[in-house]
Amino acid sequence: MQAARRETALGPQGVPNPRSRAVLLCGKVVSVQASRPAAKPVLAPGQGRLTDLPSTSPALPPQECYKAAEQFPDVAVDEVISDTFAMRLLRDPELPSRRKQKMSLHRIAVIGGDGIGPEVVEAGVEVLEALAAVEPGLAFEFKRFDWGSDYYRRNGRMMPQDGLAQIEDFDAIYFGSVGDPDLPDDITLWGLRLAICQGFDQYANVRPTRLLPGLTGPLRPELGQQIDWVIVRENSEGEYAGVGGRAHRGLPIEVGMDVAVFTRAGIERIARFACDLAMSRPRKLLTVVTKSNAQRHGMVLWDEVVREVVRGYPGLTVDWMLVDAMTQRMVNKPGSIDTVLATNLHADILSDLAAALGGSLGIGSTANIDPSRSRPSMFEPIHGSAFDITGKGVANPLGSFWTASLMLDHLGEQAAARRLMVAIETVTGRGESLSPDLGGAARTAEVTAAVIAALEGVNSTSSSRLAG
Ligand code: ATP
Repeated sequence: MQAARRETALGPQGVPNPRSRAVLLCGKVVSVQASRPAAKPVLAPGQGRLTDLPSTSPALPPQECYKAAEQFPDVAVDEVISDTFAMRLLRDPELPSRRKQKMSLHRIAVIGGDGIGPEVVEAGVEVLEALAAVEPGLAFEFKRFDWGSDYYRRNGRMMPQDGLAQIEDFDAIYFGSVGDPDLPDDITLWGLRLAICQGFDQYANVRPTRLLPGLTGPLRPELGQQIDWVIVRENSEGEYAGVGGRAHRGLPIEVGMDVAVFTRAGIERIARFACDLAMSRPRKLLTVVTKSNAQRHGMVLWDEVVREVVRGYPGLTVDWMLVDAMTQRMVNKPGSIDTVLATNLHADILSDLAAALGGSLGIGSTANIDPSRSRPSMFEPIHGSAFDITGKGVANPLGSFWTASLMLDHLGEQAAARRLMVAIETVTGRGESLSPDLGGAARTAEVTAAVIAALEGVNSTSSSRLAG
């Protein structure tokens, strides 16, 4: 769609057509230039809102901007861009050509998905654009994919048949959430999020947790402040391998089975990943979570293989916990934990507990990583679709921003990742722009604006420990 629009703006063979060109941001015309010196701008910068037009909704996502612009006969859309970038563009018209010359252009596939996913991911894109505007040498190209439950209702699939092929050449995937009250979870989750994680063999799921400055979790402050964990979740097999079946459907003898699949290769590679990560952190401490007292086959293999792998890391301190006891240790002795290795199911549960202890599910962030880097890795907030608050503009976007910081780190942009983390921590530390889940009254857009303002006030040499 964007390519087609550009052609309209420039006309055939790249010759500008007589229509004026506008820089639009979601819902607002921020700049209109005449394409010929004689022509007068149809709108002055900042004048006129596309939302004033009939049959457009007040909150316009980028695609809708294009549609709305069609009702403006004298304006062709040049580009739909974020608020921050548009403002910079007004001050600095040479910016686009300078950005094109930058070395580190990262191509990001953006999949907002369901519920609050698109809201927090669009906020994240805005923050990343703002970061690119202040961080030397950083640039992004975002492409949005409208996959998810609405796509399913229209097409009978959560994403196109060739969906993986469409995104495999991107540098990273920035994901919102998936899940719909009217569709079974096994359709939504398996049709999109797990299809990507498994299709791209993103076998390492990394979930950092810290109590950010200014926040109070449910633990006593002296305990809460000890939380500085990274949970490594096996992300390709185990309890979520998808092996099993149903028989005798609808009969009294109906049966459903899920088989947890543990392979030597799968355990070995995630154990190695967790050991490397633990060794990269100051405490060099790894806790391995298991349930081999009750599950006598797969979990025993898990223990055996992890034991073999950790032997290759003499500098690493390793301890073992049964998953049930681990929940108590996280609450009672948070400071005794650093890096945690757990199976797909165990880590899923433990990381929700971790997010709650860190202040809110709305802050938790996660990275689905293909450590071989042969396919893009995927970055998403921990939370789900949160239908109780969808569309209300109150979703906490900090999890999505922290996730963006993990993405930057993975893309080799450590300075930018640190700068974003410092900005997030500045906002939580001030405590003025917190969303309702953190006890504040700020709306998603206000939290986003506060983080962008903080980004402009901090540079990448400020100190922050990066998650993970
Ligand atoms: P899933 O199973 O898809 O992970 P979930 O069962 O964990 O989802 P969520 O959709 O994440 O549930 O929501 C759980 C609760 O947390 C809801 O009350 C929701 O409003 C709240 N919540 C989740 N994310 C956020 C957020 N970003 N901001 C504010 N509240 C949130």
